[in-house]
Amino acid sequence: MSHRIMILPGDGIGPEVITQARRVLELVVERASLDVEITQALYGAAAYPEYKRIISDEALSDTFAADAILFGAIGGDAYDALPPEARREGGLLQLRKQMQLFANLRPIVGFRELADASSLKPERLDSVNVLLLRELNGGLYFGQPRGISDTDDGVRFGRNTMVYSELEIERVARFAFELAGARDKRLMSVDKANVLETSRLWREVVTRIGAEEYPGIALDHMFVDNCAMQLAGRPGQFDTIVTENTFGDILSDIGGAVAGSLGMLPSASLSAVGEDGRRKALYEPVHGSAPDITGQGIANPLAAILCVAMLLRHSLERADLAAEVELAVRSTVGAGVRTPDIAASHPTVSTREMGDAVLQRLAETV
Ligand code: NAD
Repeated sequence: MSHRIMILPGDGIGPEVITQARRVLELVVERASLDVEITQALYGAAAYPEYKRIISDEALSDTFAADAILFGAIGGDAYDALPPEARREGGLLQLRKQMQLFANLRPIVGFRELADASSLKPERLDSVNVLLLRELNGGLYFGQPRGISDTDDGVRFGRNTMVYSELEIERVARFAFELAGARDKRLMSVDKANVLETSRLWREVVTRIGAEEYPGIALDHMFVDNCAMQLAGRPGQFDTIVTENTFGDILSDIGGAVAGSLGMLPSASLSAVGEDGRRKALYEPVHGSAPDITGQGIANPLAAILCVAMLLRHSLERADLAAEVELAVRSTVGAGVRTPDIAASHPTVSTREMGDAVLQRLAETV
C-alpha cells in the first residue's frame, strides 16, 4: 500500500534538522524498498515571500491528503512579523485540529550513553521509558471564549477557557489504555482535580472507562504539580501517562532535561483510524524553532531523526525499521558524537555531521 509523506521544514532550525531527518528517511526508504511518495513544501516565514501565506494552497491540500507529515518547527521573529491574514490558513494548531490529531505521543527515553548530559543520576536513567500521551485538540489552547478585551473602565484583560467534553476525554482515555495495554499495563492519569472542574470531569471519565473497558490496566491519578516533580526526580516510576493539552505541553519539556536536551525528544500526533483504515499523522520534534541557535549549523537533529523512527512505526507499520533508526541514534551518541546541547565534556559536531554519523551507522544495518 503506497503512503504519501509531506515534509514541512518550517521556521528557525526546522529546515536544519529536517534536512538530516529526510536523509535518514530516504536511506531507509531506498534500502527497504518502501512504497512511499515524498513531497516537500515551504512552510512558515519561508513561504511568505512567494505565496503571501505560510503555506500555498497546493501544499495545504497535499498536507491534508498525506498519510504522514514530517514537520520541523514554527515560530520566531520572522513568523511573528507576518500579517495576521498570512497565518489564517494552515497554522500548526489549525492543522492539528482540522486533521483531528488528538493523540500526541511523546516518548521520553533515558539513554545511559547520555548520562553526562542528563539532569538525572546514571543509575536512574536506565529505567526511564515513559510514554506521555498529551490530548491535543482541546483544553486551553482551543477553548472559547478567548481574547484580550477592554472593560468599560479601560482596564484590559486576557481570557482563555479550559474546556473538555466527556466525549473528548473518553476518546483520549481509550487511546491511553490501549497504549498502556501494549506496554507495562500501567496508566497514570495527570490532572488538577483538586482545583479545576475540567480535571474533576477528566478524572471521573478516565476512571469509568478504565473500570468498564480496561480492568486489566492498573490506573492511578496524580496532580500535575506533583507529576512535574516526580518526572524531574524519579521518572523511572512511570510507564504510560495521559494528560490534557497544556499540562502535557509543559510536562514533556521536563523530559528534555531527563533525556539530555529538547533536541532528543520526538513526537507523533495521531488521529483515530478513518473509514479507509488509515490514521492521519504528524511527526514533529518536541522542540520549537530555537531562534537563539538558528543558522549556526549546531542544532541537534536527533529529535527530528527519531520522528522518522516514529513515522516508520506508526504510519508505515515497520517497527523493525524504526528500531534500526533508534539503535543508530543510540550508538551514535554512545560513540561520543555530540552537538553542543548534549556535549557535556565531549568535542562537538555540526548538525550535518550528526546526520552523517547516524547515516553511517544505519547504512551498516538496514
Ligand atoms: P525552543 O524549543 O525553540 O527552544 C528552547 C531551548 O532549547 C533553546 O535554548 C534552544 O536553543 C534549545 N533547543 C531546542 N531545540 C534544540 C535542538 N534541536 N538542538 C539544540 N538546542 C535546542 O522553545 P522556545 O525558545 O520556547 O520557542 C522558540 C520559538 O519556537 C517560539 O516562537 C515558539 O512559539 C516556537 N515553538 C514552536 C513549537 C513547534 O513548532 N511545535 C514548539 C515550541 C515552541
